[in-house]
Amino acid sequence: MTDFAGLTAVVTGGASGIGAAAAAILADRGADVAVLDLDPAGAERGFRCDVSDDGEVRAAIEAVAAQLGGIDVLVNNAGIGAAGDVAANDDAEWHRVLDVNVLGMVRTTRAALPYLRRSSTAAVVNTCSVAAWAGLPNRALYSASKGAILALTLAMATDHLDDGIRVNCVCPGTADTPWVGRLLDAADDPAAERAALRARQPMGRLVTAAEVGHAIAYLASPLSGSTTGTALAVDGGMYGLRPRPRA
Ligand code: NAD
Repeated sequence: MTDFAGLTAVVTGGASGIGAAAAAILADRGADVAVLDLDPAGAERGFRCDVSDDGEVRAAIEAVAAQLGGIDVLVNNAGIGAAGDVAANDDAEWHRVLDVNVLGMVRTTRAALPYLRRSSTAAVVNTCSVAAWAGLPNRALYSASKGAILALTLAMATDHLDDGIRVNCVCPGTADTPWVGRLLDAADDPAAERAALRARQPMGRLVTAAEVGHAIAYLASPLSGSTTGTALAVDGGMYGLRPRPRA
């Protein structure tokens, strides 16, 4: 497919996992892609940028727009995890995670808006999570951040209808990325933990980063011109399906 030919895209957190998969798929389909990441090593057109620092975000977005000649697609994907129930984390940790996961998307979108408004095929895709709309154990802070992203996606989609900027999000289930690899490494019994994560998904396997990347590309594509304000589940059925447990 060449649906992104002539278009430019920015992917935050694009040096690893889901973001790297999305960046590769967008490039494969013709986009000029820039990656904003804390650690851009390995990304083809990587800019070092911490999405929790407004000055860094503004400078990086301006540098990307100057280098690529504008911004048509913004993929807000950078995010961090947090474990525990509502009492498990102190205020500083709540502020830190919300600052990266939610305000990070606010900062990049705010900085990119003038460029997106000039595009005739502007699209924003936010990486949300199944945790936004299904209660998962020991993910209170992380889930709150993703619930905020779901609401923010709908609000942004509404606000920017007249700007011609479509805004959507993807809601992945547990995806096999370096992030989940780190979680498994830290578990007492990584094999049992992986089996439990697999079993939680109706399809009986983890989601792949490429599957989420393709969903991001679908939502970002000019071919999806009537799609805005949607949340696309890429979760092996985890949110919507209630199959009988496997024997
Ligand atoms: P990952 O850790 O493999 O990649 C995340 C990338 O974001 C890394 O390259 C990291 O350097 C970058 N990053 C982290 N903090 C940053 C910051 N402050 N500024 C700039 N870049 C920063 O993780 P992943 O699994 O690919 O997750 C990507 C997104 O997908 C996250 O928003 C996550 O919440 C979401 N998600 C992941 C899963 C999953 O199971 N892996 C499920 C649902 C949603």
